[in-house]
Amino acid sequence: MSGGLSVTNVVEHAFCPRFTYFQLVLGIEQREGKRGTVLAGRTFHSRHSTTNKSYKIKRLNGVKLTEILLYSKEYMFSGKIDEAIEASDEILIIERKYSDYVVVGPTMKTQLGLLAILAEENFGKKVKRAVIVFDKTKRVEIPVKITKNIKQLALSVLQKTRDVLSSGLIPPSKFDNRCLNCCYRKICPPCTSKRQQSIEGSANLT
Ligand code: SF4
Repeated sequence: MSGGLSVTNVVEHAFCPRFTYFQLVLGIEQREGKRGTVLAGRTFHSRHSTTNKSYKIKRLNGVKLTEILLYSKEYMFSGKIDEAIEASDEILIIERKYSDYVVVGPTMKTQLGLLAILAEENFGKKVKRAVIVFDKTKRVEIPVKITKNIKQLALSVLQKTRDVLSSGLIPPSKFDNRCLNCCYRKICPPCTSKRQQSIEGSANLT
């Protein structure tokens, strides 16, 4: 399993490391399809990246790429780039979020870092920037510079995901707003150990 991780697995670990434990160690699938925001997000993705292939962010020049499945031989993970622009000297990644919550936090940076690593290895071109399009009640485009730090963050979360798989132990996590809509909340034990509580701050990325 450790060689077969996907970007989604690692992004979910960034969101909450216990997703790795419940889903990949215990094999309890998420009831993801029941979440309205996820369903709406999928619809939104499909409208732009599959059916409207000529759509492009106006200020970018290059060839539009959609739905590209990639694998990193160097870091041994796979992922799908939903949308990107290939210019002569760079690849620009476009991520669309069906959300009014316009924040580029560690979870999103982990996703962008991993997608950038996949694109650079497979296309032989640099990924210098990405654009996140938040579009629910209003549309907001946020440019993100893809730095060495973002890629290092992504690789460190990839390693932490593998650490949970190899140890088989439930990682520490704190209970907060993320838990309200979490499909694992009924089986997720509280973090009672003092040691775990003391390292919660450093272990959680969100
Ligand atoms: S209930 Fe909270 S701590 Fe437990 S898996 Fe879900 S998000 Fe993580």
